[in-house]
Amino acid sequence: MNSCDVAVIGAGPAGMAAARSAHDNGAGRVLLIDRNAYLGGILKQCIHDGFGLVKFNESLTGMEYAARYAEMLKDTRVDILLDAIATKITPDKKIHCVTRDGVKVYQAKAIILTTGCRERTRGMLALPGSRPAGIYTAGVAQKLINTQNIRPGDRAVILGSGDIGMIMARRMTLEGMEVVCVLEKLPYLSGLPRNKNQCLDDYDIPLKLCQTVIDIQGGKRLMRVIAAKVGHDGSVISGAEYAIDCDTLILSVGLIPENELAKSCGILIDKISGGPQVNERLETSLEGIFSAGNSLRVHALADHASDEGESAGQFAAEYALRKAAR
Ligand SMILES: Cc1cc2nc3c(=O)[nH]c(=O)nc-3n(C[C@H](O)[C@H](O)[C@H](O)COP(=O)(O)OP(=O)(O)OC[C@H]3O[C@@H](n4cnc5c(N)ncnc54)[C@H](O)[C@@H]3O)c2cc1C
Repeated sequence: MNSCDVAVIGAGPAGMAAARSAHDNGAGRVLLIDRNAYLGGILKQCIHDGFGLVKFNESLTGMEYAARYAEMLKDTRVDILLDAIATKITPDKKIHCVTRDGVKVYQAKAIILTTGCRERTRGMLALPGSRPAGIYTAGVAQKLINTQNIRPGDRAVILGSGDIGMIMARRMTLEGMEVVCVLEKLPYLSGLPRNKNQCLDDYDIPLKLCQTVIDIQGGKRLMRVIAAKVGHDGSVISGAEYAIDCDTLILSVGLIPENELAKSCGILIDKISGGPQVNERLETSLEGIFSAGNSLRVHALADHASDEGESAGQFAAEYALRKAAR
């Protein structure tokens, strides 16, 4: 069994910052694990700028921001293990991983969970209708366009005014798609105003507040959605339904912290944030296991996820050093 002082699971902006900080704060051996074949987490598919304004006082693309942190890990005692998925952690801080060389178990003195978040799906919204092709979450559409050069369709409706959906409204327009509108159930925008200005207003894409999708129609491929107005209590106003012809529906309806590992080893989860309950040192209900970034709570800015990762790295290194001294 391999051992380390601090193991960081998830190499997005929070995990990379946590690993560097654990190293800077005296942890002898730091192990950074990610299931992807690359560092950077979700930033790999973010080719738009707007990252780094807080940490570097510059507007970087997601990939440039990730590259800055990858550079900071060079010439350190941080071991990077890619293409490796952590499948289980235990209260005594063993990490079970499926790697290219088979199943491995690592023993850590402290663990930091920086596993990011996942998108809410059609199933979670219980959207009625048929099940045609052409329905994507915004992050999946982003991955298809930005990393695989696949255009998801020709004419899109976006449900939800989260940041990723607005960013995709611009991206799909630039790729030659027609974005008919963004429908938002709430009476206000749910993403950042800067994204509305830069991604919707600049491209004349209408944002329709207090509107939602109540039916999905199509055979093999999506043909139209039925939209409707909703009242301030969220209920559909009958008689105000209308059809929008489209072959693509993009869902941008929220993110959920990814905490399967935390839950499976009994870490208490906060009902409101969806992340682990932590104390002021970002330590979960299990001693020596810390959490940061989007797996702790959803952050609008990568810079804030990195800040939190740095703090977790420091606290985890201090814990591991105390353990070693005992
Ligand atoms: C589409 C999109 C656009 C955005 N635009 C901006 C922007 O313009 N500006 C900005 O500042 N922020 C932006 N953000 C927000 C920012 O990207 C996030 O706040 C930030 O990436 C969160 O960092 P993280 O490290 O917590 O998670 P992530 O970047 O999601 O990294 C989590 C990592 O954990 C790994 N992982 C998960 N589970 C396991 C496991 N069991 N085993 C091994 N590895 C695992 C994943 O593979 C992933 O690499 C955007 C986010 C998205 C999704």
